[in-house]
Amino acid sequence: MNNANVKNVVIIGSGPAGLTAAIYAARAELKPVVLAGLTPGGQLMQTTEVENFPGFINGIMGPQLMDNMIKQAERFGAEIILENAVSADFFKKPFSVKTDKTEYLAKAVIIATGAEANWLNLESEQRLRGKGVSACATCDGFFFKDKEVAVIGGGDSAMEEANFLTKFAKKVTVIHRREEFRASKIMLERAKSNPKISFVTNAQVLEVLGEKSVEGIKIKDNATGGEKTIPIQGYFAAIGHTPTTKIFAAAGIKVDQKGYIEVLNHTRTNIEGVFVAGDVSDPRYRQAVSASGMGCMAALDMEKYLAEHEEIESKTVEQVQESKT
Ligand code: NAP
Repeated sequence: MNNANVKNVVIIGSGPAGLTAAIYAARAELKPVVLAGLTPGGQLMQTTEVENFPGFINGIMGPQLMDNMIKQAERFGAEIILENAVSADFFKKPFSVKTDKTEYLAKAVIIATGAEANWLNLESEQRLRGKGVSACATCDGFFFKDKEVAVIGGGDSAMEEANFLTKFAKKVTVIHRREEFRASKIMLERAKSNPKISFVTNAQVLEVLGEKSVEGIKIKDNATGGEKTIPIQGYFAAIGHTPTTKIFAAAGIKVDQKGYIEVLNHTRTNIEGVFVAGDVSDPRYRQAVSASGMGCMAALDMEKYLAEHEEIESKTVEQVQESKT
């Protein structure tokens, strides 16, 4: 393969992490290629107003924020390609990333494919997403001032989100499918001692009620089979996330038990020259701004790596030439 076909860096993913990495890499004149997927922009394309991304006094719509990031990256020369990465080979250099149309070769790769919130996959839950159904209390809790909301799940996220929501909501009901909780003792105790939080255990959500917005949920008691309706205006799924890492694990990238990419030394993966940013390696913060920050860090680490390697490569060429004379 001709060297001209080898890109400096391929960035996989086009959420805040990937696009921030693209802005930095493009401003460093590295002409990054961004494999943006078929609909670029990541999770924020499915949200309405984003009020906690710094710099927007009155908030900004999620899709608008992502469109701005795309245009900002393009302005400096990033190439945004609407293709999905379907496989990767990081065992040899240059690295290879294939889409269903093309193979891209690159000296470095930044993985920023994000993670997707898990849902119960009820038809009503999907229909009311953005209309009272959310998977991010930090993003959307503010819209539920003095409302009644439910949080689904029994892990640390559910406890954290329930506690957070009590800042706004007048009542938070945690609905969990078992009697025992996966959440750590301290997080569970904190939620249990919060007077605004009540628990319904051993219960399954059957349906989110409402036409234009959430009006309630129908749940079933797993022990008795009895059904009941709880009136709520907000529904928060907190049943975990799934990082998009299958193709990278197959390409030798180390992932943890839940599939998140293991980060070594800030943004490095176990394969030299492959970097990572954003939710794909972060089960903890999962914020647009933290993903953006990590995208910046990954681009700077990648730039340093390329510079060091070009120096090593040019020295090797010099040594070869010297040895010939
Ligand atoms: P998690 O620990 O995997 O918990 C997911 C919860 O959702 C479990 O209670 C699970 O029920 C329930 N669930 C899963 N699928 C379900 C389904 N189809 N229907 C109903 N319920 C379902 O996920 P997480 O709470 O998001 O936490 C992820 C990681 O981040 C954990 O390691 C956690 O400790 C960490 N975290 C830490 C903090 C903190 O320290 N501040 C905050 C948030 C998260 P079962 O228990 O029955 O399986």
